[in-house]
Amino acid sequence: MVDAVGAGGILTIDLAALIENWRLVGRTVAPAATGAVVKADAYGLGAKAVARALAQAGCRHFFVAHLCEAVDLREPLPAACSLYVLNGLMPGAEAQCAQAAAVPVLNSLDQIDRWAAHAANLGRKLPAILQLDSGMSRMGLSPEELAELSASRQRLEGIELRYIASHFACADEPSNPANAAQIARFEQMSAAFPEVPWTFDNSGGALGGRSGHFDLVRPGIALYGANPLTNGPNPMRPVVQLEARIVQLRRIPAGAGVGYGLTFTAGRETRIATVSIGYADGWPCHLGNRGAAYIGGVRVPIAGRVSMDSLTLDVTDVPEAHLFPGAPVEMIGPHQTLEDVAKDAGTISYEILTRLGRRYARRHLGA
Ligand SMILES: *Cc1c(COP(=O)(O)O)cnc(C)c1O
Repeated sequence: MVDAVGAGGILTIDLAALIENWRLVGRTVAPAATGAVVKADAYGLGAKAVARALAQAGCRHFFVAHLCEAVDLREPLPAACSLYVLNGLMPGAEAQCAQAAAVPVLNSLDQIDRWAAHAANLGRKLPAILQLDSGMSRMGLSPEELAELSASRQRLEGIELRYIASHFACADEPSNPANAAQIARFEQMSAAFPEVPWTFDNSGGALGGRSGHFDLVRPGIALYGANPLTNGPNPMRPVVQLEARIVQLRRIPAGAGVGYGLTFTAGRETRIATVSIGYADGWPCHLGNRGAAYIGGVRVPIAGRVSMDSLTLDVTDVPEAHLFPGAPVEMIGPHQTLEDVAKDAGTISYEILTRLGRRYARRHLGA
């Protein structure tokens, strides 16, 4: 645990807002159930704290990417909560997966056969989700593999199928015709399993305005406050704030250079603030000379490259009262959203979130 006195940045995670976002998804997709995707340490926000808060609010379905993430979450979560492993079942991981009571999302015939063989070994049924590739070409059974499985249904003996799953490629663009095409293919393919419930929607699918969300939805990014849709206003409450601090201030004359490579040259007498966050904290190098921060509500552009542990801001236009060593600097907050940062960095909010550094002091609100 990093304390605020020693840290370069303070990451505030509003668990009450997280729960409100989860409930908003729940109201939107009802009567479908709403799970939570907590892979990648809950998109960088702390999987244990996030999963515990959601479980307390009533969430019973948790999705991670890797088995190791499920192993870490098994103990903090109530036994009634299911932990599903989206990346499936790696060769040799069968015993550990069963032991952790993790539910693999089976993505191939090979994974099905190994999970069924392990169930036979143990002499009991093992739960699983079966994923079908409805058009994204990333994970899940192709139509040909599904036909092969349908012709030899005994391969599923010993497996208790909890859900049939698939995943949208373009859910952030609700009007993209690829979405309807994926649903049509999924409905056609899933007809082979009329008795098994379905899970399809991620955040964008759940909040994109479609009606009918099958049986269980799997939101991730929307819970963490980012806009799940590429266009239009963000319906989610912000969950994350990131505050850095001024380390040092200096005045430089016109013509002086700033930072590695001296890529910024002062065009006038300039006030520079050095701030205690760098690329080792997940602040992208790509924001050198293009991103900004806010001090006292004033936009302050990044001057020069982002260093490993610090960056430099042109604070010439900021009132003196806001400029002192230790003064707060808003990196993500009311003036600068995750989406703003992602756009300036030429990336997506998912990447900004999941890269947020391990050496911030983390404050959880409303736990
Ligand atoms: C990551 C992931 C999700 C969550 O997606 P969001 O866009 O963050 O809501 C859902 N399903 C699968 C298969 C995923 O990989």
